[in-house]
Amino acid sequence: MFTVLILGGTGEARRLAVALRPGPRVVTSLAGRVARPVLPPGEVRVGGFGGAAGLAAYLTAERVDVVVDATHPFAARMSGNAAEAAATTGVPLLVLRRPGWTERPGDRWHRVPDLPAAAGAVAGADRVFLTTGRRGLPAFAHLTRPWFLVRSVDPPESPVPPRMATLLDRGPFTVAGETALLRDHAIEVVVTKDSGGEMTAAKLTAARDLGLRVVMVDRPPLPPGAVAVPTVEAALAHLTRATPGPRRSCTCGS
Ligand code: NAP
Repeated sequence: MFTVLILGGTGEARRLAVALRPGPRVVTSLAGRVARPVLPPGEVRVGGFGGAAGLAAYLTAERVDVVVDATHPFAARMSGNAAEAAATTGVPLLVLRRPGWTERPGDRWHRVPDLPAAAGAVAGADRVFLTTGRRGLPAFAHLTRPWFLVRSVDPPESPVPPRMATLLDRGPFTVAGETALLRDHAIEVVVTKDSGGEMTAAKLTAARDLGLRVVMVDRPPLPPGAVAVPTVEAALAHLTRATPGPRRSCTCGS
């Protein structure tokens, strides 16, 4: 049976698994970072493969016909491993990557290349809303001046900044809710990765409306030569027309 491996951990990965049914065998792979993940339909496997070589072995053992890298735009190691494993096995790879956010009139964005640079950009601030994920907190742990409101899906683990409060929550968020949150905590600056998408974009609108500064962490680049599409619909169209070849062909979403 035609087998699609989706490297997941995003809403797009879940929506693609839904869109592919009925039709091929769909296996979604999750890293296992979130305690209670929202599960997609179809088969789900959890945990690392053991690097690019481990993923290549998995592709061969499971007779995978196509890999869709639908991981988060900041999951650069997994994307690199997927590109390497696809190259060594000859299994076609499609990257499903939502576009980043675009600055609009009224925005006060400060783009930085990585989390350490984001920490440098907020070192002198007093009240910071940090939405870069609990695993990014060590980059801010040395900062003693700012008070951080940290929002994450699961509780943070040390090292964390000395002055912080945690808000456990997961999107989608509303502009009204984000505006109230920023106001209630007297936030001066918002720190975010350029994740893109609608689920977490409301904080940017709220920050613009309140005239707050946003420190925007740039995305890591895609692996060289990656074939990438921006939407689930484009991924489905690509899989339907581009996968017949020497292997079995896909009746994706039929
Ligand atoms: P990463 O740094 O690129 O990956 C580190 C290692 O975790 C990989 O080498 C791989 O281990 C394993 N891994 C990552 N994604 C996997 C997947 N979908 N299935 C199986 N193993 C996976 O990734 P990350 O930034 O820690 O993100 C982990 C997961 O969380 C990703 O699936 C991503 O989509 C999701 N996520 C990440 C972010 C973010 O900001 N980074 C935000 C939201 C969701 P092996 O080398 O052993 O195979």
